Amino acid sequence: MEGVAHGDIPAGNGVWRIALKSRETVEARWLIDATGRGASLARRLGVRKVRDEGLIALWRFGLPRSGERCNRTLIEAVPEGSWYGAVLPDDRAVLSLHVRPDDAHLAGSLWLDILRRTRFLREFFPAEGFVESTRTVDAGGGRLAALYGDAWIACGDAAISFDPLSSQGIYTAMYSGMMAARAIAGSVRGDALALANYAAWLDEIRRVYRDRLADSYAMVERWPESRFWVERLAGVHGDRPAEDP
Ligand SMILES: Cc1cc2nc3c(=O)[nH]c(=O)nc-3n(C[C@H](O)[C@H](O)[C@H](O)COP(=O)(O)OP(=O)(O)OC[C@H]3O[C@@H](n4cnc5c(N)ncnc54)[C@H](O)[C@@H]3O)c2cc1C
Repeated sequence: MEGVAHGDIPAGNGVWRIALKSRETVEARWLIDATGRGASLARRLGVRKVRDEGLIALWRFGLPRSGERCNRTLIEAVPEGSWYGAVLPDDRAVLSLHVRPDDAHLAGSLWLDILRRTRFLREFFPAEGFVESTRTVDAGGGRLAALYGDAWIACGDAAISFDPLSSQGIYTAMYSGMMAARAIAGSVRGDALALANYAAWLDEIRRVYRDRLADSYAMVERWPESRFWVERLAGVHGDRPAEDP
């Protein structure tokens, strides 16, 4: 699919008519929003996104220490937020610093300095290997206010997205795609609860995720003066999500 052109998904006569950027038109009885954390289809249908604590990932591709065969994700807490680094199948590395949205600009300009101040990560990912410019992406968790509606359903990050610290995104995206397909099949067969059960299943995943995230953030007590860690803990425990208009 080449992408949906703006304003072209009217529903009528039980059929979605979708105009692609390629100018082709596709018709379907069901619409599945699998467009990632932007949830662009559901949001164009007027569904709000409930956002958890804001989180921005400042990331770069680079090179790990020469000869490094690191086969796991490395995570390190710093006063500004948390680092996450991994070696990719092509032997490059990806290194990401997660910070408060208000701190993103400054942290982006100090990215290499903050890396040099890490205790462990800099050993595996020396600053000299990360000369590319920093890229920025929204990394906060959240969920759609409604996970399904009349002949549409959301799955993956579109439905529910996670703080990368949880490492839960890809697995849940794939599994929820399968479960969404099953829910549609159930609904088509006349199971009146198929869609509601799907939503309840995702709600339970989110509940467990939020509990575990709170436990993870509670482990870091070293920087009582750090706004990132203080706010993170208060936010996860307080569960006070903001809603997009
Ligand atoms: C910094 C960071 C680190 C992460 N680390 C991990 C990790 O270690 N482990 C893990 O499991 N998860 C991780 N995740 C989460 C993981 O990347 C996502 O959960 C996963 O990619 C979600 O898959 P998805 O298919 O739902 O969405 P996406 O991968 O976002 O795919 C959505 C697709 O839809 C397309 N699209 C969007 N809008 C339209 C449109 N209007 N028309 C047509 N196509 C459209 C996009 O181009 C894209 O191809 C991380 C996320 C971030 C931000």
